[in-house]
Amino acid sequence: MSTDSNKLIDPFGRAVTYLRVSVTDRCDFRCVYCMSENMTFLPKKDLLTLEELELVCKTFISMGVSKIRLTGGEPLVRKGIMQLINNLGLEVGKSLEELTITTNGSQLSKMAQQLFDAGVRRLNISLDTLNPEKFSEITRWGKLNQVLHGLEEAKKVGLKIKINAVALKGVNDDELAEMLIWCGEQGFDMTIIEVMPMGDIGSERRLDQYLPLSLVRANLSRKFTLIDIPERSAGPARYVKIAETGGKLGFITPLTHNFCESCNRVRMTCTGELFMCLGQDDNADLRTILRENGNEALKAAVYEAITRKPKGHDFIIDRTSDNKSVARHMNVTGG
Ligand code: SAM
Ligand code: SF4
Repeated sequence: MSTDSNKLIDPFGRAVTYLRVSVTDRCDFRCVYCMSENMTFLPKKDLLTLEELELVCKTFISMGVSKIRLTGGEPLVRKGIMQLINNLGLEVGKSLEELTITTNGSQLSKMAQQLFDAGVRRLNISLDTLNPEKFSEITRWGKLNQVLHGLEEAKKVGLKIKINAVALKGVNDDELAEMLIWCGEQGFDMTIIEVMPMGDIGSERRLDQYLPLSLVRANLSRKFTLIDIPERSAGPARYVKIAETGGKLGFITPLTHNFCESCNRVRMTCTGELFMCLGQDDNADLRTILRENGNEALKAAVYEAITRKPKGHDFIIDRTSDNKSVARHMNVTGG
């Protein structure tokens, strides 16, 4: 890794330009693949304050990070979150190319305009089904109508929307084609995600939920013309254009394909642990460094952590492996 140009380049020559930040582990939903019903959340004192989150984000920006995505848990339920979004939004168009948010959509009917005014232009909204009963089953605590109102509002204020749907065997596999048509009508892009083995989810079993996207793609290609798009996001998604709807569809396939060679991202938890790979446990404790040694030490710690970014992950779901490859939940690392 070189620090010459102040940029973050890992040992495999990949420039780290994308930071995902989980701003809270809390959520107003309990999606079956993400959390168990009875979650114990972190004590508030363990969380980075909004000021600390801002400082860390700005430090990364000064080191060449040009895209930041806020996620969680549900980022929009963190108290005072607009302070962070407004302050980071001031960097958009200067050193920061883009500030985006991944949300379950529950707060959007009241927050969409504020997000747009802060400089956010794109949202990823998680929605696995358009069937209200299934939605309640998947999210346990969510109401589909509330999310649909939020989506309408976000669209109205001019936010560009991508729908994220996790493919769940026997749950929404029969509905994905219909959702794709709906996304086309609404002007939303869509990404289908494979279930990842993260965290204990109680009585649910990964193998029961897991649906390889190779199957999903084969099924969709019987109904639609999928045209490969050379565009690669440097992330885990591969995109096609749907000739019939004009929309874009992404497949996030961490299990059936290895997407690591082009990885440009790192993730920070709400407690300030920096994970260089979503699928590995190695991390750097930025909170302790920040609280005890200050900003210069923080920079040095980030450089050092990037030297540890691994070549790839080791996710596996099969009958011989445990239910989880990585002990932490997605809401802690941030999806
Ligand atoms: N609460 C927000 C939301 O749901 O969009 C942001 C955080 S959520 C952890 C981010 C994304 O991770 C969501 O699209 C969710 O569907 C996905 N996700 C959560 N657990 C997952 C798992 N075990 N495998 C695959 N995707 C998962
Ligand atoms: Fe909450 Fe998002 Fe996890 Fe669902 S996927 S429980 S909305 S953090």
